Amino acid sequence: MKHRKSVAIIGAGIGGLACAARLANAGLEVHIYEQGEKAGGKANTLQLDNFRFDTGPSLLTMPFVLEELFDDVGEKLSDYISLNQLNVNCKYFFPDGTEFEAHSDLKKLEIEVEQKFIDEKETIAKYLKYSQNIYELTKDIFLNKSLNELDTYTNLEALKTLLQIFKIDPFRTMHKANRSFFNDDRLVQLFDRYATYNGSNPFKAPATLNVIQHVEYNIGGYVPEGGIYAIPEALTKLCEVKGVLFNFNTTVKRVNMGSGNKHRLEIAEGRVKNIEKAYDIVVSNADVNTTYKNLLNDESSRMAKRYRNLAPSTSALVFYWGVEGLHEELEVHNILFSDNYKKEFDDLSDKKICPVNPTIYIYISSKYNSSDAPTGSENWYVMINAPYIDGQDWPNELKRSRKLIVDKINCSLGIDIENKIKCESVLTPVDIEQKTGSYKGSLYGISSNSRTAAFIRQSNRSKKYKGLYFCGGSAHPGGGIPLVMLSGKITSELIRKYELRN
Ligand SMILES: Cc1cc2nc3c(=O)[nH]c(=O)nc-3n(C[C@H](O)[C@H](O)[C@H](O)COP(=O)(O)OP(=O)(O)OC[C@H]3O[C@@H](n4cnc5c(N)ncnc54)[C@H](O)[C@@H]3O)c2cc1C
Repeated sequence: MKHRKSVAIIGAGIGGLACAARLANAGLEVHIYEQGEKAGGKANTLQLDNFRFDTGPSLLTMPFVLEELFDDVGEKLSDYISLNQLNVNCKYFFPDGTEFEAHSDLKKLEIEVEQKFIDEKETIAKYLKYSQNIYELTKDIFLNKSLNELDTYTNLEALKTLLQIFKIDPFRTMHKANRSFFNDDRLVQLFDRYATYNGSNPFKAPATLNVIQHVEYNIGGYVPEGGIYAIPEALTKLCEVKGVLFNFNTTVKRVNMGSGNKHRLEIAEGRVKNIEKAYDIVVSNADVNTTYKNLLNDESSRMAKRYRNLAPSTSALVFYWGVEGLHEELEVHNILFSDNYKKEFDDLSDKKICPVNPTIYIYISSKYNSSDAPTGSENWYVMINAPYIDGQDWPNELKRSRKLIVDKINCSLGIDIENKIKCESVLTPVDIEQKTGSYKGSLYGISSNSRTAAFIRQSNRSKKYKGLYFCGGSAHPGGGIPLVMLSGKITSELIRKYELRN
């Protein structure tokens, strides 16, 4: 009888789940080990009195990646989850009092641009076409394939991209490119903001990342019924249907990559113990640095050292507030901009402090999922960008930032928010590191502030350890819900290519 290959996946983050479903569907025996009590990783859920909160991601882009996963394993996405496109992707509040609704309908968006800003409405169409071009040129190489396999580059699509490399705009920063399109500082700031979608700095990150705007404006921003946590829930159900076995509350302490495809895990269950089963394949959905340092006890190999020296992406401070009253002036997603974006990113990147004048993001899922808050109330997820962990005094940063946030909300929205907060919980970079193993609390793995970031990210297949694979936000192609799902896809394809060929 043919040996059925077995795979241990460490971590039930969205990337790990996406990889597990595909591998189980391909006939492998798949076991997931997750230290938390439920799946989702950074994309989790929090119940606070009668309020429910998504703890991490709040917006889904590229929904076709989710659909493709279900299609590929012979299931229908709509049997598991319902996705709704937002009419307004985000509402922006500028310090000068301008309020701008970023409509998903492009005609409405153009009208809003012309009414609120000094730029012509045609500029928006031109800009989104530029962003779309970057997407068309990069998607096959950078998003759908491993960058470390020869066959990624030996095809017509790759040749086309290489011949048009200047069109993906890698040689100037996002900010510089945005400035070349728009005269109005506020529009430049609005589009610079997309650097934060992968924890980068628009004044340093290559303009290639302006691809994100195509994804949000031309393809659309989505939210699932039930909130973002409905995504890991749907993936968990899919995995179960495909026969994946989950081990929750199980922390993997060590991975012993043996010879002859006999890899063993040590887990902590009161005490550290070896699990009986030896696996043919191990996939780490845990952070790459954490995997090298803690799981492989490998701090000295070239790869481990190189990765440790790369700057992580930014982190976040999030306040979860149960808020009394309904706030019609707010949308599901809202941004209260600072008046000096450059200074804000200097604080984050150079001084490594929470911004002295932060841009505030407010996400209210109860606006589309009414059961997330009691009648007449809302669940506010209030976030600012924070630096990755680097010796900061977090209790102090938290206290200082909370006051700034409260003052700014009062001033921008004309409300007394402190008196409306009925319950509260917070998430700091230290919590993110502790809860998900994310190195220095980064949200998206390494930062994309350099032109080479895409090429130095951890490859999905380890060259040093035969049988070891990586998927998730700190591996290729990077962080964010659609990208980690693609990471799971690429990893599953590599496993099929290298481990199932005979
Ligand atoms: C505050 C915040 C806001 C965000 N906003 C957005 C957004 O709006 N849109 C978006 O697309 N993305 C957003 N992201 C990023 C997104 O959440 C992540 O990129 C994505 O969820 C990461 O998935 P992953 O597969 O890398 O796994 P992770 O979520 O990192 O999960 C890894 C899992 O591995 C487990 N694990 C680690 N070590 C071990 C071990 N030793 N043993 C057992 N289990 C282990 C962890 O417990 C965890 O469950 C946000 C993230 C945060 C924190």
